[in-house]
Amino acid sequence: MIKKASLLALVICLLLTVLSPSLVQAQTGLTLLSSSAQVEFPSRLIFNLSAESDVNITDIRLCYTVDRVSFAQVTSEVYIEFMPTTTVDVSWTLEMVRIGGLPPGSSMEYWWTVEDAKGEKIETIPAQLQFNDTRYSWDSLTEGKVTIYWYEGGESFAQELMAAAQQALTKLGQDTGAELEKPVKLYIYADAQDLQGAMIYPQEWTGGVAFTRYGIIAIGIAPDNLSWGKRAIAHELAHLVIHQMTLNLYSGLPTWLDEGLAMYAEGPLVPLYKAYLDKAIAENSLISVRSLSSPFSAYAEESLPSYAQSYSLVEFLIGSYGQDKMLELLLTFEQGSSYDEALEKVYGFDMDGLDALWRDYVTMPTQPVEKELMPPALIGVLSALATVLLLWLGLVIEDWAWRRGW
Ligand SMILES: [Zn+2]
Repeated sequence: MIKKASLLALVICLLLTVLSPSLVQAQTGLTLLSSSAQVEFPSRLIFNLSAESDVNITDIRLCYTVDRVSFAQVTSEVYIEFMPTTTVDVSWTLEMVRIGGLPPGSSMEYWWTVEDAKGEKIETIPAQLQFNDTRYSWDSLTEGKVTIYWYEGGESFAQELMAAAQQALTKLGQDTGAELEKPVKLYIYADAQDLQGAMIYPQEWTGGVAFTRYGIIAIGIAPDNLSWGKRAIAHELAHLVIHQMTLNLYSGLPTWLDEGLAMYAEGPLVPLYKAYLDKAIAENSLISVRSLSSPFSAYAEESLPSYAQSYSLVEFLIGSYGQDKMLELLLTFEQGSSYDEALEKVYGFDMDGLDALWRDYVTMPTQPVEKELMPPALIGVLSALATVLLLWLGLVIEDWAWRRGW
């Protein structure tokens, strides 16, 4: 959301730019001695400036803009506190706890304005700054619009992940018509613990995060956990593609569609989720489409049935009505449509209508073929085993980015 204060700052900075477009160095005594910035990932960014003049320097401001998708260029302006004097050395720290953190590889532009008692003014040329996680030494691999950064595991590990990313994008295009619009950076941490070390507010069970507005994904994938990693990449990439495509000023996507498409991009449901879905169908305890439109439970285990049922809803829509309709639905959401209006326009039914049709679909006698092949007791055992394994590895994927508006 664009805050009024930021808008004001933007206006002020734009005004300064307009009033002195080429004013990098004043003609008289006011001189910029040095300007620098230090990255202390993930906690802070420190900006430093030295300047001198033949009269007191009276006003110093730092302006910065973070590179991310938004509806207006938002510039933050910081008034630096200092004692007016002829030679100044100032620094200002952007504490990430104040802004919720920035993802690895995100970038920003910053510049200073300095004014002295005679009214002379300097505005520095904007400098680019990358908020890189320098705690690790990263290798990189690029194919098309995807770049993978990793530091543990060999070249073949990265190539396998890249192949999975490209396959996921192809499948997503075939299923929904959605395509990656802008480049994406994938940061592969060596495990969930390393990933959590890169976040300001880590969740114990976060295995992957899509910072959709930055075009950045961070996932913890151990080289010996490749199959999970491939699914995680497909899941987070799907979020990123869908959000790039549907971002608008007015409304978001219903959670079941967002998560359902990401689950669908992974491939067939894994046994754990399948067991939750089958259980809900058998016990007639499916969650309503309206409830699934709101954010899921923050507790991993409680949210699992919601993920499984969202997959089922998307599978139903794509399987029954095809890719064209799904693409049309996404493009309708891009226009800022409400959930009911979008469904009504594309499919001819609202959320309640979808709910009824989907329940008929999943309870059709021909549907649960796999259920007959797998005794209920075995489903229970598999479910319990998978839960323990998944929680132990800390690999439940979540998408705090979208819900928190990163
Ligand atoms: Zn997700």
